[in-house]
Amino acid sequence: MDIRKVGIVGAGQMGNGIAHVFALAGYDVVLNDISQESLDKAMALIARNMERQVSREKITAGERDAALARIRPSLDIAEAAKTDLVIEAATENEAVKNKIFEQLQPHLLEHTILTSNTSSISITRLASRTDRPERFMGFHFMNPVPVMQLVELIRGIATSEETYETCKQVVKRLGKTAAMAEDFPGFIVNRILMPMINEAVYALYEGVGSVRSIDTSLKLGANHPMGPLELADFIGLDTCLAIMNVLHDGLADTKYRPCPLLTKYVEAGWLGRKTKRGFYDYRGEEPVPTR
Ligand code: NAD
Repeated sequence: MDIRKVGIVGAGQMGNGIAHVFALAGYDVVLNDISQESLDKAMALIARNMERQVSREKITAGERDAALARIRPSLDIAEAAKTDLVIEAATENEAVKNKIFEQLQPHLLEHTILTSNTSSISITRLASRTDRPERFMGFHFMNPVPVMQLVELIRGIATSEETYETCKQVVKRLGKTAAMAEDFPGFIVNRILMPMINEAVYALYEGVGSVRSIDTSLKLGANHPMGPLELADFIGLDTCLAIMNVLHDGLADTKYRPCPLLTKYVEAGWLGRKTKRGFYDYRGEEPVPTR
């Protein structure tokens, strides 16, 4: 199936990046949000990020202008629905997402493929509430979208081969690489990454090492570009905890129990970079370990 026009629902951190990469790859994009402020912020951010790519000579000024002209911000969800492919990238809340799919439904084209960028909600369950579970799949980008190479494509139990193949071609045209995952909690990246981060927090909790020694060990001993605690601060400790809870609940195995120290940081409101404090304190010039 030929995908030309894409509807993106949710213009937050992920939605703006997704609009950015689709527009640069030549797709017409409708970027929808319930908040005009989010749309304005997203458009300004996309322009700024593309400007940076121009100054680094990754794209030309002409390519930037053409891409920006392909993005149409809209408060009307019906406009996002009348497209070949919809990517839902709104707030991570199942009720919010179900409502969005309900609102999209009457306006969808016969052939529209519905997808969700959810990090943790069951694709099969979201699909089951729509009129097209066979044309529904997980389209999971990594943050920051313009930089990260991977897209996880998650197949729900009813997702058709044609839907998967079409999405795979789209990922290729974006210049990214797709990895196929079945629909189980955490998919692939978070299923493996979050227990590693959680284990790093346990190592800190049990006094095996300090923040600095744990991060240095993984960077220099396992060749990771960032240490696990530094990475946790970047992702957001509330997000890490929420995903550990999804693994723990969904797989019913105690090996996924969230570390009490991770819970404590979240209770303190020390959520990482976004609150300027997590495993490191970012309020000064240099990040300083908090333990
Ligand atoms: P965000 O909070 O930055 O943005 C969410 C946006 O959705 C907001 O602009 C909000 O106004 C909008 N929204 C809420 N309800 C809406 C509705 N009914 N219709 C239209 N727009 C609506 O969130 P985010 O970090 O961009 O995450 C979005 C999705 O991407 C989530 O499902 C999340 O799990 C997933 N995700 C996030 C990351 C990450 O690192 N942040 C990585 C991969 C996937």
